Amino acid sequence: MSNSFNLIIIGAGTAGIPAAIFASGRTNRILVVDAAPKIGGTLHLSSGQMSAAGTKLQERKGIKDSPKLHLEDIIRISKGTANYELAKLAVYNASDTLDWLEDLGFTPLKDHPVKGQAHEPYSVNRYVWANELGLSILKTINQPFEKAINDEKVDLQLNTRVTKILTSSSADIEGVEVINASGDTKKFFSSKIIIASGGYVANAKMYSRFSGHPAYGKHSYPYCLGDSISLGENLNAQTWGKENYLTSFGVIMNSYDVPSTVRLRQIHWPERRMPWEIYVNKEGKRFIREDEPSVDKREHSILNQADLRHWIIFDTEILENSPSIFKDFSKEDTKQAAKNNEPMFYMADDIVSLSAKAGINGENLKVTIEDYNRAQSDGKDIFKRIHMPKKIEKPPYYAIRSQAMSVSSSVGLRVNSSLEVINNNMEPIKGLYAAGEAIGQGALMGSSFCGGMLVTPALTFGRLLGEKIIPLNPISNTSEVNGPEGLEPTRFGDWEKNGRCSDF
Ligand SMILES: Cc1cc2nc3c(=O)[nH]c(=O)nc-3n(C[C@H](O)[C@H](O)[C@H](O)COP(=O)(O)OP(=O)(O)OC[C@H]3O[C@@H](n4cnc5c(N)ncnc54)[C@H](O)[C@@H]3O)c2cc1C
Repeated sequence: MSNSFNLIIIGAGTAGIPAAIFASGRTNRILVVDAAPKIGGTLHLSSGQMSAAGTKLQERKGIKDSPKLHLEDIIRISKGTANYELAKLAVYNASDTLDWLEDLGFTPLKDHPVKGQAHEPYSVNRYVWANELGLSILKTINQPFEKAINDEKVDLQLNTRVTKILTSSSADIEGVEVINASGDTKKFFSSKIIIASGGYVANAKMYSRFSGHPAYGKHSYPYCLGDSISLGENLNAQTWGKENYLTSFGVIMNSYDVPSTVRLRQIHWPERRMPWEIYVNKEGKRFIREDEPSVDKREHSILNQADLRHWIIFDTEILENSPSIFKDFSKEDTKQAAKNNEPMFYMADDIVSLSAKAGINGENLKVTIEDYNRAQSDGKDIFKRIHMPKKIEKPPYYAIRSQAMSVSSSVGLRVNSSLEVINNNMEPIKGLYAAGEAIGQGALMGSSFCGGMLVTPALTFGRLLGEKIIPLNPISNTSEVNGPEGLEPTRFGDWEKNGRCSDF
């Protein structure tokens, strides 16, 4: 078989699979390479939560929504830090993506869409996921992807890692160099390449280069090693999004190793469980109103704390009278974990000993607790906390170390609104496109978490690229130009023609 293709897609994950499916409506010369032994990428781990406005699902449930409202929510939640053009491109095309998935058999949970709670909620119910989370999406898109492979439109090569993007002497995109599992290198040629090889959270060095922090969590796809960035940087591509680094709040790690797996997630949402405890940093000082209603504020508050962590402090009275801080982990479990000296759980009969065990400044913690107990009596909390049910005064005292961590990459390759990769001279690298986490989470969400704004845009941008970058003419047999099931192949053209996003 020839080594020349009309399109090469690096990565058979969330963005790469739809790109291949939709391009297969236009050409039968597509190469998809993936470093892993199976397709799917981060969809194997992802919660697969998606947001889309103006969907058929919303219409069936009588929910009034529009891409305009979705975009307004993103601007509100991200405080204007999301890239307006890319966010607009994503939300104005998200409903087609979700409708397509539903047409293929994707079934959201019965009571969906919802506004979402994990991060700052949307103003309208537009957030969905299915019972198998990311896997439900993968199973859905696998059907047309397999068909495209069986129809010999897509050549899928697994265990094949792209190590270099090849260019001509005049810097035109020419193809890729790969290495397979046996260590053999090969070259494949195409003037059009989509970088859909995901983020860099599994690459500790790159993670720390972009965030200034260790990658504490071990929950990213192990093949997401930052190749999107290094392949691009070799071509003088520009990266962006460093300022958008953000972590999620309240994770209890299994061990002191870095990275470690997650043991528990603290229920820190006051609408689910009012906090009875106080949160302190390594200095033994409080840093946020514990019943702060905005999850975005809680998430941002931890960025200024040493090692991105806080300690949950309480006494025996609070333990006995409050609901458990964790789901599926009882108060008795907490007590036992502390008694057994399990990682992250500490107990002691006085505050100074507790602090020494937990690694907190004990003198400061004593003062913090005195101040907090005083505020219980006079109602004047320095953080204006409202829910203060009990003083911290009855030993044994407890501390639980809670870590902030991230499963996605803030930084990515800068792209323009045609998803072309931009170089350091601010020029598009012709023929080189990127989608998914390769463009960085900050592009779509800015410096806040906007629900579903990684999976939906990855699928959507993959779809749009698959439809757009291969013109109709490479297919010799016109009867093949039918597009994948569920959507007309000319949709991207319509998208431009009817002005839905004409300003991009
Ligand atoms: C635990 C977890 C939960 C999440 N939950 C959500 C959520 O609910 N909602 C949301 O919007 N986002 C969520 N995300 C983020 C979201 O799932 C990802 O951002 C998205 O799936 C990434 O898609 P992608 O196409 O960029 O990368 P991937 O789907 O990871 O695909 C990249 C592919 O490229 C391959 N690859 C890498 N390097 C190379 C190379 N050099 N050559 C060839 N192939 C290569 C990889 O093997 C992989 O298959 C979550 C992430 C995690 C880890």
